Amino acid sequence: MKIIDGTAIAKGMLDELKLEIEKAGLSPKLAVIIVGDDPASKTYLKSKEAACSHVGITYEKYMLPSSTSQAELLNLIKELNESDVNAILLQMPLPKGMDEETALEAIDPEKDADGFHPANIGRLLLGDEAIAPATPSGIIELLTRSSIEVSGKHAVIVGRSNVVGKPLAVMLLNRDATVTICHSRTSNLARITREADILAVAVGKPHFITSDMVKEGAVVIDVGINKVGGSTVGDVDFEKVKEKASAITPVPGGVGPMTVASLMRNVFLLTLAQRG
Ligand code: NAP
Repeated sequence: MKIIDGTAIAKGMLDELKLEIEKAGLSPKLAVIIVGDDPASKTYLKSKEAACSHVGITYEKYMLPSSTSQAELLNLIKELNESDVNAILLQMPLPKGMDEETALEAIDPEKDADGFHPANIGRLLLGDEAIAPATPSGIIELLTRSSIEVSGKHAVIVGRSNVVGKPLAVMLLNRDATVTICHSRTSNLARITREADILAVAVGKPHFITSDMVKEGAVVIDVGINKVGGSTVGDVDFEKVKEKASAITPVPGGVGPMTVASLMRNVFLLTLAQRG
């Protein structure tokens, strides 16, 4: 069994990216908007900020209070669309009452660091992955850099969110996997997960996938980030499942760092495309 070291793979990606940015003579600038004070968002932002500084991306932070109105947020996005920043990231979740969809759609698709704009999601669906959401991109990169074949494999994804499950399904399909997506209304989930050659889990429930739900030799990708007591655990019962899997990602140190590295690559790609 192989534990896929997302931290090391992400570090390799960031090192490569730093060189690519230097070689291209670019000075990308990323604007990050945070509305409210969600504590988890602050933790994610720290790692994004550190990655920016590592690869040579200028990081501009816009901290807005939770009392900010939708119109004020849209105004800021408009200003940034017209400014010299190359990429914009709107940190989720937004405070209750704010319309995330409208805000994400307001971002210029050519500055869409997260790849969540409907135009970029539409392109992904048509097979153009130029700017793809960071977490699924990170997962694909993990599989590729770990020499895990996807073509012809049965990939089962548990979770159908717009940020992870759905775009990951499309990206695996683009690589000729046979894809099954499961969700909270799926009947007999374990029967389906046991058929997976590649099992990706993005549910948000600690230790949700137990070893009886996994086929011997499966590759298991755990996207979940759950706080239990003082520690962070995934959606997979790692200790038991690792005895069955041929490869598995740990939490922390699996998909998380890859998401950040893929986000940095998106900023680079957007900047490069703007230069023409
Ligand atoms: P989400 O929007 O809450 O979606 C959760 C998905 O799980 C939904 O599709 C839901 O089904 C499904 N689900 C819930 N209970 C289920 C059950 N009993 N059986 C089968 N499916 C079930 O979550 P998300 O944004 O995709 O995030 C999922 C997890 O990944 C969270 O822990 C999050 O923190 C983590 N995450 C990590 C990264 C990273 O970089 N590592 C990035 C993003 C998210 P329905 O659609 O039917 O409700």
